Amino acid sequence: MYDVTIIGAGPAGISAAIYVKRANLNVLVLYFGESNLEQASKIDNYYGFADGISGEDLFKNGIKQAQNLGVEVKELEVLGIEPVGETFNVKTENENFETKTVIIATGNRKLKPNIKGIEEFEGKGISYCAICDAFFYRNKNVAVIGNGKFAVNEATELSHVASKITILTNGLKKPECEFEVNTNIINAIKGENRVTEVEFEDGSKMQIDGVFIALGEAGASDFAKTLGIMQEGDNIKINEKMETNVPGIYACGNITGGLLQVCKAVYEGAEAGLSAVNYVRAK
Ligand SMILES: Cc1cc2nc3c(=O)[nH]c(=O)nc-3n(C[C@H](O)[C@H](O)[C@H](O)COP(=O)(O)OP(=O)(O)OC[C@H]3O[C@@H](n4cnc5c(N)ncnc54)[C@H](O)[C@@H]3O)c2cc1C
Repeated sequence: MYDVTIIGAGPAGISAAIYVKRANLNVLVLYFGESNLEQASKIDNYYGFADGISGEDLFKNGIKQAQNLGVEVKELEVLGIEPVGETFNVKTENENFETKTVIIATGNRKLKPNIKGIEEFEGKGISYCAICDAFFYRNKNVAVIGNGKFAVNEATELSHVASKITILTNGLKKPECEFEVNTNIINAIKGENRVTEVEFEDGSKMQIDGVFIALGEAGASDFAKTLGIMQEGDNIKINEKMETNVPGIYACGNITGGLLQVCKAVYEGAEAGLSAVNYVRAK
């Protein structure tokens, strides 16, 4: 059982890990997919780098600094977080990690594909969370848009209730999975009061009762939905101690909104790390 599991190895996650490790607690950092930081060709406005530094170098240095302290860092995609009594189970494809607290530091990501009809039918056949909404699609015909492990995980979740599941990659590579996959580019999602049809660029159509969006990696919003964490728009709502409304779950960095800069992510990571330390020590 870990004291603290941190999802994300950007400035927020690594800063949190450093504070937790230096408080002598056992901490695990999981990361997967490109961070915001790695996309920055040069960071010129962060304290201490007279000639600037590339985002990629700063990212790698952060991980190395944490590892030098003895922090366990694994490159694994987190697919979900489940509450287990007062602790949590952090799910990856092949391994689950039990932990007393979780710090979500997954940065921000674009959730919505640019497909006509998605916004119009949100809550009327368009969903972003299989665990939350699968029940509404008992014995129905549903599709999942995405092509990564997260999409396959959502499809698996739906397979317990829906009668038919198709993964729509919207032109991207087919994922390895047991589900039916359609790689055509999607033109629009259509319906009257609810979603009834997906129309593809080649003119073909698919009758459908619901469409689940599961692009890229699972993100903060996906975890928030399943755990009942309060959000403000796409951001996770936190207090000044980086606590969410769910005891034992903290959030920091870009996912909490505000100033989307390295300095703020580092500060919030430190604060989240210290809050998690206090929580574990008080138990
Ligand atoms: C092009 C560009 C230029 C920028 N320039 C500057 C600049 O000059 N100065 C500045 O201060 N800021 C700059 N920024 C902003 C800065 O990069 C971010 O504010 C900062 O990186 C946010 O840190 P974070 O730790 O919150 O998120 P990120 O750096 O995005 O890190 C998120 C981490 O979460 C991981 N993750 C996400 N989902 C999962 C999952 N399901 N499972 C496991 N891991 C997951 C990712 O792998 C990553 O390790 C720039 C950003 C961009 C895109």
